[in-house]
Amino acid sequence: MLTPLEPWIQTKIGLLPGAPLTRAALSSYQLERLRATIEHARRQSPFYRQHLAGRAESELRTLADIATLPFTTPADILEDDLRFLCVSQGEIERVVTLQSSGTTNKAKRLHFTARDLELTVDFFCHGMGTLVKPGERVLILMPGELPGSVGDLLTQGLHRLGAQGVIHGIVRDESAAIAEIIDKEIDCLVGLPVQLLGLARHADVITIPPGRIKSVLLSADYVSMAVVREIERVWGCPVFNHYGMTEMGLGGAVDCGARSGGHIREADLYFEIINPATGQPLPDGKVGEVVFTTLTRTGMPLIRYRSGDLSRFIPEPCRCGTVLKRLERVKGRLAGQVRLGGKYLLSMADLDEALLPLPGLLNFQATVTQENGMDILLLSLFTQGGPAEKLCDSARDALGNIPTVWLVIAEGSLKIAPLAIADKNWLSSGSIKRTIHDQRGEKIC
Ligand SMILES: [Zn+2]
Repeated sequence: MLTPLEPWIQTKIGLLPGAPLTRAALSSYQLERLRATIEHARRQSPFYRQHLAGRAESELRTLADIATLPFTTPADILEDDLRFLCVSQGEIERVVTLQSSGTTNKAKRLHFTARDLELTVDFFCHGMGTLVKPGERVLILMPGELPGSVGDLLTQGLHRLGAQGVIHGIVRDESAAIAEIIDKEIDCLVGLPVQLLGLARHADVITIPPGRIKSVLLSADYVSMAVVREIERVWGCPVFNHYGMTEMGLGGAVDCGARSGGHIREADLYFEIINPATGQPLPDGKVGEVVFTTLTRTGMPLIRYRSGDLSRFIPEPCRCGTVLKRLERVKGRLAGQVRLGGKYLLSMADLDEALLPLPGLLNFQATVTQENGMDILLLSLFTQGGPAEKLCDSARDALGNIPTVWLVIAEGSLKIAPLAIADKNWLSSGSIKRTIHDQRGEKIC
């Protein structure tokens, strides 16, 4: 079935009903919006006035010319978010504060007008149409207490779809979340991958009637295939993936029924894939860093923002038949990688794929330290109980199967410290991604 994003975007870019959405129509809309965004930002935002000094939007003759513009980085926002504002602070409806996962204690703030928030609600409404039918109930296992929070905007989007959003919030007690699924006759779950894995592996999960959960949407962190397979096995329902970050206006791309890559909300965002080392754009199909430009945001537009996430455009057409671009499941974050033995990269994604299939494992924390020039990998496991020794042995074996790990061990420059069992899980808000903690003072970016 065609992604519901296609007819939505067809209308959004002003095509007449019945006129097919084409790449040419979309490109010409995006170029016009890109120029308008640059003009708006240069005129209204002190940051972009300086950052894009001497650059005229008329210089952009094709979309590819965007590569001549400088990047915007998370550090730019950290330095002074208010300089990004294109409207008065009074017109800002919601400010989202993201704690930095780096060494600084600075927080990154993103500002949204009521109109900006409306764009997100509109996307959530159409994006959720892929997996939720009118009349169904969706349990939102993400923050939603505050107006304008992800849970609140998703609830509004679902309401427009004729479905009902029930905000549970981040899971702190699996039994309570499972009880709510049963009591409220929930049809769909939306949450963070490790949190959903925790529910699927909880002892109470057998109390959920078979067929109760009809779909699951994973969001806000790297989604390993291990998690997808486990959830599909336990609930026997399709698992969809959403890719987005606060800076994108929360929503970015969502799977269609084919579940083989997310379709991008191309009327609101222009995505590029670049070589993170050289900054040069990469051809479709090549893996690189996701860079995006907002096309419709007024409060705090972002131009060529470096997301730090690694992915690629899938060049082959999607089975659903859309002309919209398809972004592969994000392969992890640049900042989440550590270099071992001086040359091999290990990512949280590698660890997730190797460790999360282990039965009984619910989450883990990885840290790299150094002792006498030797890298040490420390792993702390959070389990649902059961024989800890056996799980530690399996985890050690699984680690040894990661090519980077065995290569570095074989070279004699990595040691795995005795595995530890954590007595409680690490709560994630979703805004700070799970990452390998590098305590050697050496960072890749
Ligand atoms: Zn599709």
